[in-house]
Amino acid sequence: MDFSLNEEQQQFRDAVRGFAERHLADAALQRAHSDDYPHDVAKMMAEQGLFGIAMSESSGGQGGSLMDSIIAIEQVAAVCPRSADVIQAGNFGAIRTLAEYASDDQRERYLKRLLAGEMLISVGMTEPEAGSAVTDLVTAATPDGDGYRINGTKVFTTHGWHADVILAYVRFGPGVGGIGSVLIDKGAQGFSHGQPVRFLSGDDWAQLYFENVYVPPENVLLGPGGFKQQIAGFNVERIGNTARSLALGRFAFNVAREWAMQRKQFDRALCEFQGIQWKFAEMQMKLDAAQLLLYRAAVNADRGLPSAQETSIAKCYCNQTGFDVASESLQVMGGTGYSQESLVEYCFRRTRGWMIAGGSLEILKNRIAEGVFERRFSQRPPR
Ligand SMILES: Cc1cc2nc3c(=O)[nH]c(=O)nc-3n(C[C@H](O)[C@H](O)[C@H](O)COP(=O)(O)OP(=O)(O)OC[C@H]3O[C@@H](n4cnc5c(N)ncnc54)[C@H](O)[C@@H]3O)c2cc1C
Repeated sequence: MDFSLNEEQQQFRDAVRGFAERHLADAALQRAHSDDYPHDVAKMMAEQGLFGIAMSESSGGQGGSLMDSIIAIEQVAAVCPRSADVIQAGNFGAIRTLAEYASDDQRERYLKRLLAGEMLISVGMTEPEAGSAVTDLVTAATPDGDGYRINGTKVFTTHGWHADVILAYVRFGPGVGGIGSVLIDKGAQGFSHGQPVRFLSGDDWAQLYFENVYVPPENVLLGPGGFKQQIAGFNVERIGNTARSLALGRFAFNVAREWAMQRKQFDRALCEFQGIQWKFAEMQMKLDAAQLLLYRAAVNADRGLPSAQETSIAKCYCNQTGFDVASESLQVMGGTGYSQESLVEYCFRRTRGWMIAGGSLEILKNRIAEGVFERRFSQRPPR
């Protein structure tokens, strides 16, 4: 067992940190409060080789590891928390699913441009009546000639407003086995957005309406049965969200630590009060524990043993820790922490959403309990 990064990982870590400090530090606060997706950052990162880090070189990726992608999230977030979302978009979630299952033609039309930072993809799974129970989704794919007609509505889609293409989960037939996925272009006839709505994080989402949208056969990513195939890999995908939670908690912690050493009340630095010291001791313990759980899940996934149990434990603990630490850091900074002049309040708002997105804490705990008791517990009412 070795708790340190190897030499190659250390070099990569330092290179990413250098890039972030040179290109992302100055506008970090402004970026956190901007309504736009940072396309300029995406282009820079793609040129720097920070997209497709864990994807094979034959797919247009960098041939690195999941651990490398996490290192990239950590180093970018330490300088510019918002830009960690761009690392996520270029390495985790929909782009990874595409890299895994795309046809040669789909790679050419979509993956290439996504990896170049020229395009943005979002995943549309959640529907008004299918949140945690995602397999209840009803967006229908009905055969029409060689292709399909899509009808349905998606909600809460991250970057849905800005995305050029949506990886939409659709129903080809009944049951879990009837679910697959298709690629729907922004300009497709019958595809429209509702009014943008703001999340607590400041990000906008909008309802995505598909009204008789024609999807040609070459835009089907995974046909019926695809959901089951894809969900196996989804546990690993949770690692991106997990890493960002922890990284933003750590960012807030570092800012609050500096503050506690400089800010004086009652003629003493804040860090000299035991009530404040214990907050930092608690935060440090949580951050360290979360870090170990995250790395365990990632290192084992890199060894080809992705464990749903380990990734669920890591996500649950890192999501909670990121938020708790951001909240305590904000408290240590008083009115300054609560104000938009510091990025700590952004980290507090941002980490809150990951306790819901990508598998809520409750759903993850259900999964973890199944591992504990080595049996499934159906969430459905008894028949
Ligand atoms: C910031 C953010 C980003 C998101 N991005 C995307 C995206 O890009 N694409 C996408 O498709 N979706 C996205 N979502 C949607 C997300 O996946 C859903 O919000 C999530 O699955 C929960 O669904 P829901 O909001 O409908 O809550 P519900 O399913 O209605 O759940 C409400 C509450 O009940 C709890 N609950 C539900 N079932 C159980 C149970 N069996 N046991 C215990 N507790 C339970 C939940 O944990 C939650 O706390 C995003 C959400 C957020 C907040």
